[in-house]
Amino acid sequence: MKTKLLTEQDIPAAAAILRDGGLLGIPTETVYGLGANGLDPEAVRHIFEAKGRPQDNPLILHIPEASWLERCCHDIPDAAYVLAEKFWPGPLTMILPRREVVPDAVTCGLDTVGMRCPNHPVTLEIIRAAGIPVAAPSGNRSGRPSPTCAAHMLEDMDGRIDAIVDGGPCGVGVESTIIDLTSPVPRLLRPGGLPLEELREALGEVAVDKAVLAPLSAGEKPKAPGMKYRHYAPKAPVTVVAGEGGETARYIRQQTGEHTGVICFDEYADQFPNGVIRTIGSSHDISEQARRVFDALRAFDGTDVTAIFAQCPGDAGLGLAVANRLKKAAGFQIVDVEEAEP
Ligand code: AMP
Ligand code: MG
Repeated sequence: MKTKLLTEQDIPAAAAILRDGGLLGIPTETVYGLGANGLDPEAVRHIFEAKGRPQDNPLILHIPEASWLERCCHDIPDAAYVLAEKFWPGPLTMILPRREVVPDAVTCGLDTVGMRCPNHPVTLEIIRAAGIPVAAPSGNRSGRPSPTCAAHMLEDMDGRIDAIVDGGPCGVGVESTIIDLTSPVPRLLRPGGLPLEELREALGEVAVDKAVLAPLSAGEKPKAPGMKYRHYAPKAPVTVVAGEGGETARYIRQQTGEHTGVICFDEYADQFPNGVIRTIGSSHDISEQARRVFDALRAFDGTDVTAIFAQCPGDAGLGLAVANRLKKAAGFQIVDVEEAEP
C-alpha cells in the first residue's frame, strides 16, 4: 500500500478514507493519531494490525463536540459536561459507560469507552465531514515514541496506512490526560496535556491511579490497560536521573562516553563533553519540554548510542506528564541522585 500525504485542503478525501473503512493519520494538538471508523469493527482491527498493538489495549473515540457523547455513552455524569464545557476541544479523555453501538474492537470488551474532542481545526472538520466517531490511538508503531509531526508518523507507518494529513507540528506534544468518571471518585489514569491541578480545580477531589507513578507488579491489573506495556521507548535503553538539575548533570557527566545519549534541559547542554546530546527546552519551560520530549526520544534511533540518560522535570503541572513519559520510556529505570549520594 502506498501511503499518501494529504494537506489541510484535502478534508473530503480524508473523510472518505474514514467512511470507507481505511486508516488515516490525523493531526491533533497532542500527538498524531491513527484514525479509523470507530463504529466499524473491521476498520478498527486494522489499527491494531498497523501498529502491532496488543489486543487488550483499548482505543479512544474522537468526536467534534460534547453533544456526540450521547451517541456512544450512557449514564453520563454531570461532571463530564462540566469538563467538556471547560476543557473541550482539548487534551482531555473521559472514560464513560459505553453504548452497544461502540464495538468490542474499540474497548477490547470493556463496558467503558474513552471519549475525546481534539483541539485541531482540520481534524475536527474531517470528523464532522465523515459523520462518525473516529477511533484513534497515537500514530506510532506500538512501543515507540508517539509522533509529533507528520514525518515521524510516516517513519513508523509508511506503506501500512492509506494516508496521513499533515496538519503541522503538534502544539502540546504529549498525549491527552485520561480521567475515569465511572469510579465513585474521578480517577486520573494517565497524566497528559491537561494538568491534574486543573482537573482538581474543576471537580474537587481527583484520585491518582497507582500506575501513573510506579510500575505495576507482576500480575497486577491496571485500570487503563495500556499502562502495563513498555512505552515510548527508543531503541537504546533509557535511565531517568531524578533530582536537582546541577546534581543530575554531574551524575550524568560521570556516566557519559562516546556512545551515550543525553536528554537534558537547555541550561546543562554544554556540560557533557561526550556523547550525543538532545535538549528538551529550558528547565523552567515545561510546555516546551512536553512539545519536545518525544522528538528527543526518537532522535537517538539511527545513531550508535547504546545507553541514554535523561534529566527529568518535577511533577507540578505538565511536569507530571513529561516525567511519566520519560519514566515509562525508561521502563521505570530511575536513579535518584539525592538518594544515590552519601
Ligand atoms: P493511545 O491511544 O496510544 O493514547 O492509548 C490510549 C490509552 O487509553 C491507553 O492507555 C488505554 O489503555 C486507555 N484507554 C482507552 N480506553 C479505555 C477504557 N475504556 N478504560 C481505561 N483506559 C482506556
Ligand atoms: Mg500510544
